[in-house]
Amino acid sequence: MEKVKVLIIGSGPAGFTAAIYTSRANLQPVLYEGIEPGGQLTTTTEIENFPGYPEGITGTAMMEDLRKQALRFGADVRRGIITDIDLSERPFKVTVDHEHQIEAEAVIVCTGASAKYLGLESEAKYRGMGVSACATCDGFFYRKQDVAVVGGGDTACEEATYLASICKKVYLIVRKNYLRASKAMQERVFNTPNIEVLFEHNTAEVLGDEDGVTGVRVVSTSGQERTLDIMGFFLAIGHHPNVEVLKGQLELDEQGYIKVVPGTSKTSVEGVFAAGDVKDPHYRQAITAAGSGCIAALDCERWLLAQN
Ligand code: NDP
Repeated sequence: MEKVKVLIIGSGPAGFTAAIYTSRANLQPVLYEGIEPGGQLTTTTEIENFPGYPEGITGTAMMEDLRKQALRFGADVRRGIITDIDLSERPFKVTVDHEHQIEAEAVIVCTGASAKYLGLESEAKYRGMGVSACATCDGFFYRKQDVAVVGGGDTACEEATYLASICKKVYLIVRKNYLRASKAMQERVFNTPNIEVLFEHNTAEVLGDEDGVTGVRVVSTSGQERTLDIMGFFLAIGHHPNVEVLKGQLELDEQGYIKVVPGTSKTSVEGVFAAGDVKDPHYRQAITAAGSGCIAALDCERWLLAQN
């Protein structure tokens, strides 16, 4: 049985930042990269809002840099998926890829969240080429263009109003005949002249060419088809935090995100810390995830020190 002091699960900005801090604190962290090495950022195009990159950087390049920085200080970064974890007693028992057993004194969970997609083939084809699940990340690339947002919740309304401030026109594609978003959000949408809400519409196909998205074919519930000429197609139909392997062992909030003691990374289980999107339904930014990875590393370091 392998014994490790700090096990970090997940390889987005939260995981690698936690790895950088804990390795510099000589805690010899072991980080498992998980199903999607590099996390959600590897599915975005250019990142222009992470401080310190005046020219912007691609998501993949940023994650490679973070990985190298963690390796430089001795973090043990491994390919592999945590397939089982028992947090009922310490040290925590962890199984990797159904076979490798580990005992960890402390665990930092940075498994992120995954944006929901519609599941259309054409949507997958143009992902990163006009199809995006993050208006804050990618909206800027479509300034002065026409775009569409799918969804009727607070995120969709927020993203539509944000996009309306930089784009020429925003179509909001809503499958029901009402918005689920809060009244205040709805009012913002209805009071923004360059947002057109298409109630009772579903997306049939994302259209495009070799340069990316060129339009979207929508169908109303009464069967009428319409093609919207757009260059950006934004999904805002919700996220799901990646907590499957931990289910039933950590307290979650009503949306399924890991609950932490406010202002800290401490979860309901002593010795288990959470950082990044898996505990954050609101901000979901690379910089906030990295910041919370730092908080988790410091909380973990202090907790381990108090144990010994
Ligand atoms: P929600 O689950 O609230 O809304 C998802 C929306 O997407 C719904 O309108 C839903 O439609 C629609 N949808 C889901 N699946 C599909 C599909 N396959 N095709 C078309 N439409 C679909 O998610 P949000 O991300 O908007 O919000 C998550 C939570 O975060 C909420 O509690 C929200 O209030 C909160 N939030 C708060 C903000 C704020 O206060 N500033 C900002 C952003 C989020 P339907 O209604 O038909 O189910």
